[in-house]
Amino acid sequence: MVREVDYKTVPVAGISDPNNSFLKKPDEYPVTGDHNGHKVRAEGKQRMDGDNKPYPTKFGIHGTSVGVDWEACVADGVCMDVCPVDVFEWYLNPGKKGTGNDKVLEKGSDDWNKYRTDKCDPIREADCIFCMACQQSCPTQAILITSP
Ligand code: SF4
Ligand code: SF4
Repeated sequence: MVREVDYKTVPVAGISDPNNSFLKKPDEYPVTGDHNGHKVRAEGKQRMDGDNKPYPTKFGIHGTSVGVDWEACVADGVCMDVCPVDVFEWYLNPGKKGTGNDKVLEKGSDDWNKYRTDKCDPIREADCIFCMACQQSCPTQAILITSP
């Protein structure tokens, strides 16, 4: 189930043109941290949503070869359901994955104000076999796979 959000998501940078991916734009998407064994880019940077309004959060893109844009992730979980090698896990429900196993946030709660929804964390991106199933399944085009 796609969770409710109050902004219009945009596809992760580069999904329609791999030559224009976030990995090729280090000024716009600088590495801002490490998290659970993967890099995070552009965390804390204000980006614009599909209505050209500022996103209510300032999340970054988690992962490199498996890049998940946390602004666009709305926690439906299909990427986890289709991944054959268990790359993903819920950020707010550690150890859990898949549709219906995300932490549901009550609108207006502190967690909702901070995250809007649970987020998909590519905690095992090194295990990715580049089957593309997650990228093709994500309803908001929040995932960009870049094979080496
Ligand atoms: S990354 Fe996409 S498919 Fe995965 S949980 Fe988020 S919205 Fe759903
Ligand atoms: S491309 Fe395939 S193996 Fe890699 S994270 Fe997505 S679903 Fe999993």
